[in-house]
Amino acid sequence: MSNEAIEKVHVLIIGSGPAGYTAAIYAARANMKPVLYQGIQPGGQLTITTEVENYPGYPDGIQGPEMMVHFEKQAVRMGADIRYGLATKVDFSQQPYKVQIDEEKWIEADAVIICTGASAKWLGIESEQRLNGFGVSACAVCDGFFFRGKEVAIVGAGDTACEEAMYLSKLCTTVHMIVRRDQMRASKVMQERVINTSNIKIYWNSSTDEVLGANKVEGVRIKNNATGEKLEVPISGFFVAIGHQPNSDIFKGFIDMDDTGYIKTIPGTSKTNVEGVFAAGDVQDKNYRQAVTAAGSGCMAALDAERYLSALGLK
Ligand code: NDP
Repeated sequence: MSNEAIEKVHVLIIGSGPAGYTAAIYAARANMKPVLYQGIQPGGQLTITTEVENYPGYPDGIQGPEMMVHFEKQAVRMGADIRYGLATKVDFSQQPYKVQIDEEKWIEADAVIICTGASAKWLGIESEQRLNGFGVSACAVCDGFFFRGKEVAIVGAGDTACEEAMYLSKLCTTVHMIVRRDQMRASKVMQERVINTSNIKIYWNSSTDEVLGANKVEGVRIKNNATGEKLEVPISGFFVAIGHQPNSDIFKGFIDMDDTGYIKTIPGTSKTNVEGVFAAGDVQDKNYRQAVTAAGSGCMAALDAERYLSALGLK
């Protein structure tokens, strides 16, 4: 680590979903001169969603990507320094804390706010991996367009799977929805929408035996978990919507996490086990995972950071 490659900042925010941008807005308004690194997906998970109907302040709803542009603009207007770049390594063993960006540059910070969110999970079968990008996708909103007028399948039974199935049903002739139990986890309203959509066909108690096709998706073999019976369905697109995992790998060894990798914060605060390192948003929340709760926790993190820096006489 050469000295000239190190930049010193006051407050470093890692991640650009609702938590990161809200932390930036609050930190900038409190004159903490925050620097925010956006990561590989600026705007986070909301940039791959469609209509957001439940974020207060948008009575007519808003598209997720547009909402994140609003968040970013507001943070910039308050004076936050928003940069493109991915945090690739950290050293939280002593103050000032060090964060490496894009495997090159090191940043030193008095306080760090982790808002790295969560990423899509995969089934983990060979054919899914092999055909990823060749008809296999974890984002209907990003890739559904390519399957207009065709048949597709989607795996999952949460709100995401239902939302994506609805989205696909408007583009595709038939959506085959593979649900592993005899019920869905999604909210009642979402389930009803899916069940009442005529071109969504639900396979209850079923799993994906294999995605079929040599170079591109041509079908899926669905297995009934109760009877063991297998059925091959011709499709062109295979979508996976089975939840997310927290993006916390680079913090392992420094920050306490639960056994699924979610960062532990002291209840009622954004404080981690390392003083001066705070966490907000989905990376520390496996229960609520909403844009509005992430934004709220980003606000908490900025306020906690401000108090921490004031107590040290650094603000
Ligand atoms: P969830 O964790 O809620 O659901 C994951 C789904 O995938 C479950 O139905 C689960 O099945 C299934 N699943 C998990 N692993 C596998 C596997 N290996 N094979 C087959 N199926 C599998 O994730 P979501 O992404 O749907 O939602 C996350 C959070 O975001 C939730 O709190 C949700 O309410 C929220 N959300 C809200 C939206 C909105 O309000 N507009 C939109 C999207 C999400 P099982 O049920 O059997 O465990």
